[in-house]
Amino acid sequence: MDRVLGEVLRAAVWDRLHSLEEVANCADDDSVLVVVRSELPRLVAGWRAVLADHSPDIRGHCPACSSFWRPWVAPCTVWLSAYKHLVYAESLSSEQFEESAASRS
Ligand SMILES: [Zn+2]
Repeated sequence: MDRVLGEVLRAAVWDRLHSLEEVANCADDDSVLVVVRSELPRLVAGWRAVLADHSPDIRGHCPACSSFWRPWVAPCTVWLSAYKHLVYAESLSSEQFEESAASRS
């Protein structure tokens, strides 16, 4: 993928995430419900597709993150990020999660 196309894709994804965040933070409850029902299944499907690409092979290596010279033992950063945002974050309030994320970066 060339650099320009990569920049366009990244900008489109960041814009989409920003607009979803705006709906969650600013829209009325009925609008949020409509957006959640349409977007949540797509987000779940997207996470599943990404995680499937990063599922360990029979040797326990991530096929997407590994190279011929450098195997990456699972779980890779994608799975760790998924755990952090989908499981660990569930156990914290949004304020606690933001504080936790800020302290680790
Ligand atoms: Zn990976």
